[in-house]
Amino acid sequence: MQSDLAYPQVLVGGFNTISCTRAELAELLLEDCIEARKQGESWLPKLVFSSNGQGVTLAGKSPEFMRMMSEADIVHADGMPVVFASKLTEAPLPERIPTTDFFHDAAQVAEPNGLRFFMLGAKDEQNAAAVAAIEKIYPGLNVVGRHHGYFTEAEDEAVCEMIRESKADVVWIALGKPRQEEWCFRNRDRLRGVGWLKTCGGLYAFLAGDVPRAPEWMQKAALEWLFRMMDDPKRLAWRYLSTNPYAFYRLVRETRRRRDR
Ligand code: UDP
Repeated sequence: MQSDLAYPQVLVGGFNTISCTRAELAELLLEDCIEARKQGESWLPKLVFSSNGQGVTLAGKSPEFMRMMSEADIVHADGMPVVFASKLTEAPLPERIPTTDFFHDAAQVAEPNGLRFFMLGAKDEQNAAAVAAIEKIYPGLNVVGRHHGYFTEAEDEAVCEMIRESKADVVWIALGKPRQEEWCFRNRDRLRGVGWLKTCGGLYAFLAGDVPRAPEWMQKAALEWLFRMMDDPKRLAWRYLSTNPYAFYRLVRETRRRRDR
């Protein structure tokens, strides 16, 4: 699925990871959305996922998650450890593409080009606060719909109907791993004509201002996990302390140059 990409990919932590900058990824988003509008029903949305320590760990334990990550159209490096590991390859990634920052790159491309965003996921209140924040920062951006992330599989069709009616070009999906990736595969066919389904984990919490962002130096030093853990130890301490060593192991073992076009 990933072979038609214009950028090289490197195998990092087991995932074919796109080697491009944030700005280049935002350009790809625009090109795909324009193409999707042209093709309409014959366009299957591209599934664009992100790679971080949590995902690398999950993939080592769950063949199903590994399969979803390898069948994604684009995987980008969300975590700094992924970028560091890529230095073991012949084609190191030029930079980290955290979804939290990439959202803004995407919004800046979407606003002047009239792309439409649909925001799916998180608690209703957080989702609404995130949308309000987006509308404040990007008054010209078309946020054409939103829906919280606490619904059952039986309600998928109704949610997709809402998305189709909104004529969204990009659906941002924050349901946590692996639910958000599963949702994308399960509903991709119902959403023909949508350019991208982009998973975005904790994005709405940041946009809503519910969670502070780690200082720049911690992000650069691959210590964002430590900052998040200290901010919310009850929820995250076990997650990080139990998964980091294994993620490190997989990042070293499952990293090599794979393909360069
Ligand atoms: N979430 C959701 N539905 C669910 C489970 C999670 O909408 O059934 C949302 C949750 O509210 C949060 C987002 O998914 O906004 C990311 O979840 P989590 O914090 O587990 O992911 P992280 O980004 O920390 O890996």
